[in-house]
Amino acid sequence: MTASSPLMSTYPPAPVTFVRGEGSWLYDDTGRAYLDLLSGLAVTSLGHSHPDVADALAEQARTLLHVSNLFGTVPGPQVAATLDRLLGGGGQVFFANSGAEANECAIKLARRWAGAPAGRYKVVSALGSFHGRTLATLHATGQPAKHEPFQPLPDGFVHVAWDDLDALAAAIDPSVAAVLLEPVQGEGGVNPATVEYFRGVRDLCDERGVLFMVDEVQTGLGRCGAWFAHQHFGVVPDVVTMAKALGNGVPIGACWARADVAAAFEPGDHATTYGGQPLATAAARAVLAVMEDRDVPARARHIGEVVASELTAAPGVLDVRGLGALIAVEVAVDARQLCSELLGRGVVVNAVTPTALRLAPSLLIDDAELRSGTSSIAETVAEILEGDEN
Ligand SMILES: *Cc1c(COP(=O)(O)O)cnc(C)c1O
Repeated sequence: MTASSPLMSTYPPAPVTFVRGEGSWLYDDTGRAYLDLLSGLAVTSLGHSHPDVADALAEQARTLLHVSNLFGTVPGPQVAATLDRLLGGGGQVFFANSGAEANECAIKLARRWAGAPAGRYKVVSALGSFHGRTLATLHATGQPAKHEPFQPLPDGFVHVAWDDLDALAAAIDPSVAAVLLEPVQGEGGVNPATVEYFRGVRDLCDERGVLFMVDEVQTGLGRCGAWFAHQHFGVVPDVVTMAKALGNGVPIGACWARADVAAAFEPGDHATTYGGQPLATAAARAVLAVMEDRDVPARARHIGEVVASELTAAPGVLDVRGLGALIAVEVAVDARQLCSELLGRGVVVNAVTPTALRLAPSLLIDDAELRSGTSSIAETVAEILEGDEN
C-alpha cells in the first residue's frame, strides 16, 4: 500500500496551502489572500514576515547560528534578562525549543526542587488543560481521552476540576511537588480562570509548600492584555513557561523560575542541543523589542474590546469570552462548518470546540482589518442560521 501523502496522518488533510504571509494576511498557492485571525495558533503575534524579525534572522544567520550550550552566546542572556524584567525580576531562564519542552523543564525542575527521592514528585493539573504532547506533558494535559492510546504514561500526574479550589486542596497530599495551570485554558476552549481561583491557588501552594507553576505558552507575551496573563490576577508564580509568541514563528520556548527554585538544577541536570541557540534568541530579542515598542498588551486589550463590541449582539452569537486578544466566540451553529465557510471567504480562524471559534489575531492588526474579520464572522453565522431554517 502506498501512502497518499509523504506526511504522517497526525493532522486532518490540509484545506489550503499557504506560501506567503505579510502582516495579518496570508496568500495561498493560487495567490488568493486570507485575513489571518488565528496567527498560527497564537504564535505570529506581530503578524507575518515582520521586517525587524526577518532582518534579525538574516543578520544572525550570517553571523553565528550555533555553538552548543558549552559556550556563551550574546542574544540568549539578553532575552532571558528581558523576560525576567517583564515577569517582575528575581528569576532565571532555561531556553527550550517548544512549549512542551518548556513544560518538561518545569516538571523536571519541580521534581529536583522537591527532592524526588523523598517521595514528593507529583504535579497536579486541571481537567480540560493542555500542556503538550510529549509523554510527560501529555499526562499533565487533563484530557483523559488523549491519554488512552499511549498508556502507560509516566507516573506522577493528577488532574482536578478546573476553577475548583476545594478539589485542588483535596489533591495536594505529601506526594505533590507542584501545581501546573494555564491562566486561560487555551486548547480547552478559551476558559479564563477567575481571580479568586488563581489567588486561592497561590495561597494554597504557600500553605502546603508546593510550587505554583503557570503555563503561559499560549497566553503569555502580551496576548491576554498583560505581559503575562497571571499578572491580571495579582499573583506571582514560582515557575512560568512560555513559547508560542516568543519567536513570532521561530521555534523557541522558555522556562522561568524564581532564582531559589531554579537553583535546584545543577550542571548536568537538564540540557538541550538547540535550546537558546543564537538564531532563535536573536529572533526573540527582536520580537520583544517590537512588543515593548508597540505596547502589545494595550493593543491586545483594545482588540478584545473591539471583537466583543462587534460580535456580542450579532445574531447566532451566544457569547464572546476570553482575555485580551485570546478570544472564543460561542455560536449557535456548528463551529467546524463555520470555520470552513469562513476559510472559503478568505478568513482564517479555528474551531476550538464544536460550538466555539477561537480568534487570536496579530496584536498589530489594524481596526479596519479586525472589523472586516468580525463582519465576515457575523455574516457567515447569519447565513448558516438562515440556511438551517430553510
Ligand atoms: C501549545 C501549547 C503547549 C505546547 O506547545 P508546543 O510548542 O506545541 O509543544 C503547551 N501549553 C499550552 C498552554 C499550549 O497552548
